[in-house]
Amino acid sequence: MSNLTRSEWESRAKALKIEGRAFVNGEYTDAFDGETFDCVSPVDGRVLVEVASCDQADAEQAVANARIVFESGVWSRLAPVKRKEVMIRFADLIDAHAEELALLETLDMGKPIGDSLSVDVPSASRAIRWSGEAIDKIYDEVAATPHNELGLVTREPVGVVAAIVPWNFPLLMTCWKLGPALSTGNSVVLKPSEKSPLTAIRLAQLAIEAGIPAGVLNVLPGFGHTVGKALALHMDVDTLVFTGSTKIAKQLMIYAGESNMKRVWLEAGGKSPNIVFADAPDLKAAAEAAAGAIAFNQGEVCTAGSRLLVEKSIKAEFVPLVVEAIKAWKPGNPLDPDTNVGALVDTTQMNNVLSYIQAGHDDGAKLVAGGKRTLEETGGTYVEPTIFDGVTNAMRIAREEIFGPVLSVIEFTDAEEAVRIANDTPYGLAAAVWTSDLSKAHLTAKALRAGSVWVNQYDGGDMTAPFGGFKQSGNGRDKSLHAFDKYTELKATWIKL
Ligand code: NAD
Ligand code: MN
Repeated sequence: MSNLTRSEWESRAKALKIEGRAFVNGEYTDAFDGETFDCVSPVDGRVLVEVASCDQADAEQAVANARIVFESGVWSRLAPVKRKEVMIRFADLIDAHAEELALLETLDMGKPIGDSLSVDVPSASRAIRWSGEAIDKIYDEVAATPHNELGLVTREPVGVVAAIVPWNFPLLMTCWKLGPALSTGNSVVLKPSEKSPLTAIRLAQLAIEAGIPAGVLNVLPGFGHTVGKALALHMDVDTLVFTGSTKIAKQLMIYAGESNMKRVWLEAGGKSPNIVFADAPDLKAAAEAAAGAIAFNQGEVCTAGSRLLVEKSIKAEFVPLVVEAIKAWKPGNPLDPDTNVGALVDTTQMNNVLSYIQAGHDDGAKLVAGGKRTLEETGGTYVEPTIFDGVTNAMRIAREEIFGPVLSVIEFTDAEEAVRIANDTPYGLAAAVWTSDLSKAHLTAKALRAGSVWVNQYDGGDMTAPFGGFKQSGNGRDKSLHAFDKYTELKATWIKL
């Protein structure tokens, strides 16, 4: 881990040469029509670089190249052990460039540099390495056929994968897709969010250095309604993988239906319940976790514990503990290694969060912490971690994904009511339950309609376990060997003996 000071990070930021071009067929290139957009840092509002604004023509070219490279077999038919070696080299290069990637991420989307360095970059390299390491250890199947037949059940790469990712963990979400997509032999056209394109652009060059052949990984920065839509409607994209909002996820399913029925795998939004029972083993620890669950990454986390469900009998004791715990989460300059809450990704997102805070007031919830924009003099977009008490599950702040540091505290009286409120949401990404009763923990965990459930902790996870959502939080899973299903087609080959 780096121990650079804030002023050292700031001078590195000044000296940083930032690449803003697209990456197609192994080379950086301007958008076909030369368009660019400003990449603005939410840290202080300054323009970091002009970024290529790709569109349909760029999508056409990148997909065509990706197809040619896929068909050539240089990557798709490379022995798994060789792809493994390249993927591990790719992961090593990410680690070797940790400080640069972390700095790009922090400048681009405002998260604390300490988090970029200790969470985003190492988790990203781990996703690449883990997927690469797995690829020469997975076996196909032989079916239980009659004696005179042989039935082979094999996995093949799907071909050309388009990956569209969000801005909250730009590098990490990218690598959750790239790890299994590349390891299984596909070609990829990646569209990072227009709000956070820089680490993906940098990553493309590292992939080439690692030995991933030109054209296998292409990066097209630009907007959703331009290049994103062009990829989603493309007739020669086999699979579309996405992380982002539920609204756009639904639109992508429509695009697939309107075009070539490409496979669509969606990691979408959440409104995760964090249930604290009166018999939680340690109320202080639960309160600290509840605060972290909404303040970490400025609350811009798909699994943010945005609905805190508290058993009535302990509520008067517990809420003050959470209010106390949230004081440890203080917005500050993201380049300061001691900062644990950075800037929201941009002005639009900040205003969105502030409008939800207003909605909390309007609907009669009681503000008990935060509630305001802060550090305005910096030119950046900072909002205080905010807690509303007295929220009902019908209020807007309890129903809609805010994607910012705004916590809703909701009261319940028993386990049955807790589960009912917890599941009363269109989302089903994650949930947590705090109790020292083993049976209650298991029964509640089973009853929760969510892809990840945590017991007496919030936000556990690793590459070894699948991650994704029930209901309108998506389909399919990132991470673990289950993720490989999204990037491969199953083939049954029947041989008469
Ligand atoms: P978003 O849906 O607005 O954008 C995601 C991506 O889709 C961006 O690259 C955007 O440019 C692109 N896009 C937008 N419109 C498009 C269109 N018409 N066609 C094609 N592409 C289009 O989401 P966001 O604001 O970037 O990210 C926040 C959302 O991501 C939240 O809802 C959050 O819960 C979700 N998220 C989910 C997970 C998960 O694993 N489930 C992880 C992180 C974030
Ligand atoms: Mn940005």
